Amino acid sequence: MKHLKLLSASLALSFTVLTGCQKETDSTLEPNAASQSTQQNATALEGTLDPTLTQLLKSDPQFRDMVRRALALEPTPCDDDTPLNQWLGTQLTDWTPGARTAVNSTAMTNLPTYDALLYENSPQNQYFGPNGEYTQRLTKAFKDLQRFWNIESEDIVLVAMHGNMLQNREKLIRTYVNAYGLSNASAAIYADRVINALKTYPELRNGNHPIFTFNAFALEGFTEEPFGTIPDKIVMGDGIMQAYTAIGYNDVAPQAILAHEFGHQVQFQLKLFPEGPSTPEGTRRTELMADAYSAYYLSHARGAAMQWKRVQQFLQVFVNIGDCSFTSTGHHGTPTQRLAAAQWGYELANNAQKQGHILSAQEFASLFEVELPRLVTM
Ligand SMILES: [Zn+2]
Repeated sequence: MKHLKLLSASLALSFTVLTGCQKETDSTLEPNAASQSTQQNATALEGTLDPTLTQLLKSDPQFRDMVRRALALEPTPCDDDTPLNQWLGTQLTDWTPGARTAVNSTAMTNLPTYDALLYENSPQNQYFGPNGEYTQRLTKAFKDLQRFWNIESEDIVLVAMHGNMLQNREKLIRTYVNAYGLSNASAAIYADRVINALKTYPELRNGNHPIFTFNAFALEGFTEEPFGTIPDKIVMGDGIMQAYTAIGYNDVAPQAILAHEFGHQVQFQLKLFPEGPSTPEGTRRTELMADAYSAYYLSHARGAAMQWKRVQQFLQVFVNIGDCSFTSTGHHGTPTQRLAAAQWGYELANNAQKQGHILSAQEFASLFEVELPRLVTM
């Protein structure tokens, strides 16, 4: 089972495009959009319940009611017009119809993601941010996370996603061939369209517009032809970090996002993802848990040890990427729920009797499962 976990729901894309056959058309390339299954599969989560939770379910009717609501996913009050999304909107106001058509007809926004996913497999020569402005912090935080959580993490690879791959004809061609299943000849035509678009439309900023790299993700490694062996990896897009810098969270956002993605690597290893097709409530569960893993590490005295002012900032990092896509299998939780999950992780670290003790990743997950029904009523 392959897993690709993206930071936010807004640019969710399907992994199946990598293995499925992609139809070629002259005018438009559409990667398979994340399937919008509205199937409310309440049973999918039950097999993963923690024993403590199972016990509570049997004994406490009120708790049982909360769980039922969590599993059925009832929409809660939600507003995802966050400063981060507003900022991204302002970055798109100068896009001409020509630029929009060029971007859509070449599926340009997904190319850096696929390129990083398939071809960035080595930790060597990585830099983060268009000018390496996040390199030092991310490298340090990554080492720190490897030490903090008790999983096998030495083989996880941390790599960057840069929009400047859109200027590189060779990279464009190999991505069109392998991610979209195009022939070499068609891939070359599309690659030239991308390069032409960058020359024609200055608003695309030569590929360095944040929209092209507005995400981060964790991938569970796999071996499959024609891709070869892809290691467990975390990919950090320049655009999402630039966006947080622009709205005032430069101090904490890169580390918070990285720690969230590291939380997914913990989940891969501990097999915390439910089997079977994704559901909105299943995705929400693992995303909120990753937020909590992140907040616990960021606050813990032996983690990033962030003090209250920075805690308040990183809580806002999670608020900003909440979404209201209740029926989408890419639903990550509302801004309020993501805040609540991160706040819970922070409090767990901050209120611990023994500040020097780090919970095991498994213990942490068990505690989270008990807390989840409360978090999703918010
Ligand atoms: Zn995530």
